[in-house]
Amino acid sequence: MQTAKARAVAAFRRHFGTEPAMLFRAPGRVNLIGEHTDYNDGFVLPCAIDRDAVVAIGPSNDADISVVACDVDDARDQFAFGDTIVPVAAGWANYVRGIVKIMQDDGIALVPAQLTIAADVPLGSGLSSSAALTIAVGNALAGIAGQAIDPTRMALLAQRTENLFVGCACGIMDQLISARAAAGQALLIDCRSLDCAPVAIPDDVAIIIAHSGIRHANTDGAYNERRRQCEAAARHYGVAALRDLAEEQLLAGRAGLDETSFRRARHVVTENARTLAAAQALETGDMARLGQLMAQSHASMRDDFEITVPAIDQLAAIMATPLDAIGGARMTGGGFGGCVVAVAPASKVPAVLDAIARDYRTPAGLPADVFVCRPSAGAGLA
Ligand code: ADP
Ligand code: MG
Repeated sequence: MQTAKARAVAAFRRHFGTEPAMLFRAPGRVNLIGEHTDYNDGFVLPCAIDRDAVVAIGPSNDADISVVACDVDDARDQFAFGDTIVPVAAGWANYVRGIVKIMQDDGIALVPAQLTIAADVPLGSGLSSSAALTIAVGNALAGIAGQAIDPTRMALLAQRTENLFVGCACGIMDQLISARAAAGQALLIDCRSLDCAPVAIPDDVAIIIAHSGIRHANTDGAYNERRRQCEAAARHYGVAALRDLAEEQLLAGRAGLDETSFRRARHVVTENARTLAAAQALETGDMARLGQLMAQSHASMRDDFEITVPAIDQLAAIMATPLDAIGGARMTGGGFGGCVVAVAPASKVPAVLDAIARDYRTPAGLPADVFVCRPSAGAGLA
């Protein structure tokens, strides 16, 4: 199959009859550990994966913005700058409309442009195709207008696009890692200050991502419920966010808090501690410790936060078993399906792939889609 870049360029020639002036890329991501900690002002540890959204762009004499989505049957959208930009029924187009409007509202002067978009991040699989798309389009629009936007600012603009224009209440992780990642590194992100500390991933370590094939129908409802429970627990303890709570305080101040909210809070508090410890374990190449922390994270998501499902528990176990406790596996993403990530010695990749192929089937009876990734660079020129 053609690369995303080749497809974006070919589509640009086909639709606009000329060569693109510039090419931009932004990667998808996987979160290694730190789940549901972001909206509690806590820590996450994602890395960018070697799959990108690619945008080909050139100046336009026609509509202000003309855009073609190669991954949505070459669907096309056209619109004029200004207050008339509103959401439309075609979901994909709102990421483009949204980032245009949000950038303009933020005072960034844009110029008329035509764009094509193609990605090899799978859409809607939990690898953050949406942040990759939004960041790549934002950088392309800035680039063709002769501007370079600071990556953290672009991440915030892209998050605002999803929050305000697409209607997705996501945190900042996906956009920050797509904008700021560096090759060979994960980023330990403090979701309160937005400080990012690079964490080197040794060359002989592989990231393996397997999609369970499960998509939960009510993810939004469960997500909002967890957020409310975390906010209620923070109020109970009298802290601004659960990030401000140490495990001793969690236990000492537990009286009067209902059992469910206590377990939700315990997940967040212990997950923050695990995420910091995992960054250190990766940094020092302590794969056994990393594996322990990933296993504990999965158990906490299963038992305390209650966001796993039996098939995901099974997939995580299937991927962890061949590792013999050197490295580990856990569900990654919001929960109730989606992907399991393993961090493993590269030498173990064949054994993990064999185990998945032999022992796991999606609800449709198919083998899981698997991606073996290296931690990749953040957004830039393609
Ligand atoms: P994820 O970000 O985990 O992949 P989301 O539901 O947040 O899942 O985002 C997926 C949506 O983003 C798609 O349904 C589509 O609307 C939009 N999208 C992402 N990548 C592309 C792309 N390459 N072309 C068009 N739309 C895309
Ligand atoms: Mg997304």
